Amino acid sequence: MFGFFEKKKEFCCAICGSKDPQEGFRGAKGDICKNCADALEKRDLTCDDAFLFTEDQRKNLCNPALDAVELADSFQIEKAPLVLQEGEYCYYYGDACGGRIQTVTTGYTGRNKGVSVQIMKGVTYHTGGSAGQAVREQLIESSPTGRFVLTNKRFVLLTALYGFDIPGDKVQTIDVRPDGLGIYVKNKMHIVLTSDVRKIAIIITILTNATKQQQEERKQKSLETTKKRQTRKKQAPVSGADEIMKYKKLMDEGIITEAQFERKKNEILGFTE
Ligand SMILES: [Zn+2]
Repeated sequence: MFGFFEKKKEFCCAICGSKDPQEGFRGAKGDICKNCADALEKRDLTCDDAFLFTEDQRKNLCNPALDAVELADSFQIEKAPLVLQEGEYCYYYGDACGGRIQTVTTGYTGRNKGVSVQIMKGVTYHTGGSAGQAVREQLIESSPTGRFVLTNKRFVLLTALYGFDIPGDKVQTIDVRPDGLGIYVKNKMHIVLTSDVRKIAIIITILTNATKQQQEERKQKSLETTKKRQTRKKQAPVSGADEIMKYKKLMDEGIITEAQFERKKNEILGFTE
């Protein structure tokens, strides 16, 4: 009843500006129309994911026409909290902690608990039970807060403890967890504790796809060059021999002299006199 006086906020897509509320997404951070939501879905992203990024990045996420390389380019950040190498660009940096897994014994469990009998005040006799097995829990010991930096070449964690600088091509796999990332190198896990997990995972996916596409293009290009070189190699002697036969025929028919034929032949074969 009281809601009657509250003016309902008008639907407005945060990506394309469409005011068509039909089947649109209404989130706490903004609205997204059906068309834009579909475009996001094609990239395996939810509408909530879109609001992790800046307005420009959000628009690019939704543009299905943008290929992976272009999309990655649009995520580049001007500044970086570390010195970048030549050809290295920063794509993300933010507060994060490092971590180390510690195994801690938190209790014991037995197949048979036995019976406890109180003999006198404060003294208990335990009977029939086996010692049981230790319950071990894995806890993550966290470092002081530092910075996690993601570039097209490296994963860097700048912290006082458990920091790392890992070249991207050394990473075997990345384990995405609700509160952080596990970056595996040679079966050792490096931990990053961050609240930006989803955002970082999306950027890593975009970068990986862009790199894959660049590698594919490079492979295609070198394949074409090899093919061209091979056809050139095959064609050259054949066409040269054909041409010589043509001149031989002219000589046999008496149209050109033997000296003229020899000169032409040497010219075709690339001999210098
Ligand atoms: Zn839209």
